[in-house]
Amino acid sequence: MSISLKKWTAPNKGALFVVTGPSGTGKTTLVRHALKHTPHISFSISATTRPARDTEKDGVDYHFWDTPTFRKKVEDKEFLEWAKVYDNFYGTPKEPIMNALNKGESILLDIDPQGAAQVRARMPECVSIFILPPSIEIVEKRLRNRNTDSEEVISARMLQIREQLQHCQGFDYLLINDDLQSAQDQFQAILIATLLQRSHRNQWIERFTS
Ligand code: ADP
Ligand code: 5GP
Repeated sequence: MSISLKKWTAPNKGALFVVTGPSGTGKTTLVRHALKHTPHISFSISATTRPARDTEKDGVDYHFWDTPTFRKKVEDKEFLEWAKVYDNFYGTPKEPIMNALNKGESILLDIDPQGAAQVRARMPECVSIFILPPSIEIVEKRLRNRNTDSEEVISARMLQIREQLQHCQGFDYLLINDDLQSAQDQFQAILIATLLQRSHRNQWIERFTS
């Protein structure tokens, strides 16, 4: 299946999509694919105090800030949410999100379950998607194959994965990332169905009633 968006009419109101799930379940992969194939959706670039990986660019994948800078932004209430994940701080800068939503653009957040809970509490209209792996063994294999983390980091992440899987209650959608093509299609289907909701398309009603 492939959703054709050749004649896609943009919604007049954007949506805030919160994607979460344990490390290695494929959030980055699914988000990147959706951004490439879905119009008028952009990625919220998080800030983090962890060091950049070889493949990552400052200001593109993350804003790589030192801890004092990060703490100052927390004090100044510049984050929509923030959390400590695997000994590093991560946070979602608030202003770019509000600017995008006000312009009718949609935003995708790729954040951990603690951060997702904060966003759901502050912005209950958000659409939350929890990504599940087909099995614990498969996530571990994918983390190793990704080749971005040391054995020590992988062991720490595996310890937290079981715990984090308990937090999938209360999310709007549960998506099992087994076959990648199928998961990508299902992920895009969620985005498109949300943006076709009447609440995102009021200008079309006005067009026919005024
Ligand atoms: P996360 O962002 O949740 O930590 P990633 O998107 O980095 O996870 O995925 C972890 C690894 O698993 C990556 O190497 C990615 O290419 C791979 N991967 C993601 N989804 C699948 C899938 N459905 N089948 C096989 N490998 C996958
Ligand atoms: P990584 O270091 O592998 O890029 O990300 C580790 C974890 O931090 C992932 O679960 C990712 O979703 C989460 N994360 C990334 N950005 C943010 C953020 O802004 N806030 C929160 N709470 N978690 C984040």
